[in-house]
Amino acid sequence: MKIHSIDIYALSIPFVTPYRLSRIYGTVTDNQSIVIRIRTDDGPSGWGEANPLPPFTEETPAGVFNLLEGTLGPVLVGADAGNIARCRRAVDECVPGNPTAKGALDMALHDLAGKAAGRPVHALLGGSLADDLPVLWPIGSGTPEEDRRVVEARAAEGFRSFMVKMGAQPVEREIRRVAALTERFHPEIRFIVDANQGWSQSEALRFVDGANRYPLALIEQPVDRNDIAGLARVRAASLAPVSADESVFSPVEAAALARAGAVDALSLKVSKNGGIAPARDIAVLAAANGMTCLMNSMLECGVTQAASLQLGCTLGNLVDCGHAYMSTLRLTDDFTDFGALVTDGRVRVPDEPGLGIAVDEDKVAALALRHASVGPARASQDAGA
Ligand SMILES: [Mg+2]
Repeated sequence: MKIHSIDIYALSIPFVTPYRLSRIYGTVTDNQSIVIRIRTDDGPSGWGEANPLPPFTEETPAGVFNLLEGTLGPVLVGADAGNIARCRRAVDECVPGNPTAKGALDMALHDLAGKAAGRPVHALLGGSLADDLPVLWPIGSGTPEEDRRVVEARAAEGFRSFMVKMGAQPVEREIRRVAALTERFHPEIRFIVDANQGWSQSEALRFVDGANRYPLALIEQPVDRNDIAGLARVRAASLAPVSADESVFSPVEAAALARAGAVDALSLKVSKNGGIAPARDIAVLAAANGMTCLMNSMLECGVTQAASLQLGCTLGNLVDCGHAYMSTLRLTDDFTDFGALVTDGRVRVPDEPGLGIAVDEDKVAALALRHASVGPARASQDAGA
């Protein structure tokens, strides 16, 4: 099963509602994804997706597209798609870092491996521990009144966990949001707060001091991604568990967090972490160090969400609350049927081969702002030029 060619598409899909994050990221209005299809010469096609989001990620959508078209794609054309480890090594030897670009290739190779075997990816990973998982709903930065309206509307649809975005308002106001939400909805509803690096150490400690009176499921990335000592200080002061998101792209970073005892949990995102294989490495490392994992998401379409679900359902150390499988429901459109798996605040683990979802090829092409193909046709084009 040799890789014949790789199609690369740049998409931009608007959000139903603009999403206000911490002061670092501002308000996001659309999802910018790079979607790829790996074609094999005698077998199925596999789909992958990259979700770069600067300045969350060092990678940009244009950079990912160009890297896949100009460097990583050509390295894999002709390679054995069935040997994911060798494909990963080949791209790692080309260029360090760039996890979201490599993650798209990893997802597509896993999709291919599953389709070739006629089995879902979770079966190739050793098997699923869950038939479904609870799903969280995110709440952008807002007032207690706006928060309450979102929770009531989504709770009526079955959601029991919410991720409340913080870090855009003064700390005292954020504590009031926590107080209002937990006093009204605890214990039926669980709340994660995510500051997206929006606080200094002293602000984070002030937040924890005020929020310790309220039952939070998790406090995510209170301080800068490089401030491991700061995370450890916040963890020591907090009654709620603390998680790292922007601080953990690679297994190396996860190991550093574990050595420092900096956090209780890690946010896994298959795109951010470079695909299913490295995200799984991080999950194993977390388990061995007594840490749990939140299956989190970037601003993703259905391919990344499906890859995340295939991994998440195999893990025995998930955080006991909802996980981020709602990404496509916040978009005005998607080119997969992933969203149909989410009902009553839970996502069903599919058993179809590969990533377990249907991809509408025509829709990908129609949504694409830019398209390139890497493979024999491209090589002959270049030769003729
Ligand atoms: Mg986060």
